[in-house]
Amino acid sequence: MEDRSEDRIVSAQRQVEDDPQVELGLRPRSLKEYIGQEKIKEKMSIYIRAALERNEPLDHVLLYGPPGLGKTTLAHIIAWELGVNIRVTAGPAIERPGDLAAILTNLGHGDVLFIDEIHRLNRSVEEILYPAMEDNALDIVIGKGPGARTLRLELPPFTLIGATVRAGLLTSPLRDRFGVVDRLDFYNPEELEEIIVRSAGILNMETEQEGAAIIARASRGTPRVANRLLKRVRDFAQVKADNIITAAVAKEALQMLQLDRMGLDEIDRRLLLALVEKFEGGPVGLDTLAACISEEPETLEDIYEPYLMQLGLLKRTARGRVATSEVYSYLDLSPGGGDAQQRLW
Ligand code: ADP
Repeated sequence: MEDRSEDRIVSAQRQVEDDPQVELGLRPRSLKEYIGQEKIKEKMSIYIRAALERNEPLDHVLLYGPPGLGKTTLAHIIAWELGVNIRVTAGPAIERPGDLAAILTNLGHGDVLFIDEIHRLNRSVEEILYPAMEDNALDIVIGKGPGARTLRLELPPFTLIGATVRAGLLTSPLRDRFGVVDRLDFYNPEELEEIIVRSAGILNMETEQEGAAIIARASRGTPRVANRLLKRVRDFAQVKADNIITAAVAKEALQMLQLDRMGLDEIDRRLLLALVEKFEGGPVGLDTLAACISEEPETLEDIYEPYLMQLGLLKRTARGRVATSEVYSYLDLSPGGGDAQQRLW
C-alpha cells in the first residue's frame, strides 16, 4: 500500500524540503535555547551536571514520542552540554553486527552515540549492543562451527541515546538497559509561537504576534511542522505582503495549503468523517479505519492518531477507535454545513 503520510505538508516526518542546512540553522544548540519540554530539560541538566562532576559518561538515554518533537535535537544538545562528540546513525542503517562494531570501536571516551529509530535494529545487531551498554564490551566471534571462540574487546565508556516513536516497540532486554527513559510531549501553542518567532528571526523575517500565533495553532504540537509552515507562509508573505507575516497572511497561506486552524488536513478530515459516517462514531478496529484512508495501520497509529487524540477528537478503547462528541462540533456536521475547510476557520 502506498504510504502518502510523508508527503503531507503537516507530516512530522523529515522531508526532502527540510533542507538540512536550514534545519541545522534553526536547531537550538543548548538546553537554554531548547524551548518547552521543561521536565525533561530540568532532569537532563541535573544528570549532565552530575556526570560532569563525577567525570563519568552519562547513563544511556531513551527518548520516545511522535516524530518532529526534538529527539535528535536533544541528543545533539546533550553531547554539546557534555562537551563530547556525537555520532549519529539510525536503526535501519546498521545492517550487520560488524557495522555496529565498527561504529563502537571508533567512539572516543565519553562520546554520545545517537541511534534514531532504534526499534528497527535487527536482532543480531541488537545483541552486540547489550554487552556494549552494560560492560563496555564488544564480543567478537572468531571462526565458525564447533571451533568458534568469542573474544571480548574493551570499549571506551560511551552514552547511547536511542530515539523511537513508542517505547513499547523496543524489545524488553534493550529497553531495560537504558538508565533514563523519557517521553517527549506535544508542545503547547505558546511554546510553538516562541519557536516560530525564534526561527523567523534566524530566517530574517518579520512576524506580527497574531501571525505567529495562527501558525503555532496549526502546527500540530510539533516544532518540525511549525518550521515547515513558517517557510511556506514566508513564501506567501514575500510575494504578497512585503515580507511581513501578519495574521491575514498566515491565515490565507494556511488556507491555501488546505489546512484548518488546528492544522488538520484533508486526510485527517476524511478519517474523522469515515469514523462518524461509516461507523457511527465507532468503535472500529485500527485495520479497518486505516483501510478507509488507504494507510498502513502503523502509520495511522504512530503518525495520525496521536495528534487527533491530543485534540480530544479520537479515543482508543479496548474495542477499537471511537470518535468523541467533539468531532461532531469540530466538523460541524449539522445539515447543510457547506464547505468544511472554510467553516473550520
Ligand atoms: P525528532 O528527532 O524528534 O524527529 P528533531 O530533533 O529532528 O525531531 O526536530 C525537528 C526540528 O524541530 C529541528 O530541526 C528543530 O529546528 C526543531 N525543534 C525541535 N525541538 C525544538 C525545541 N524544543 N525548540 C526549538 N526548536 C525545536
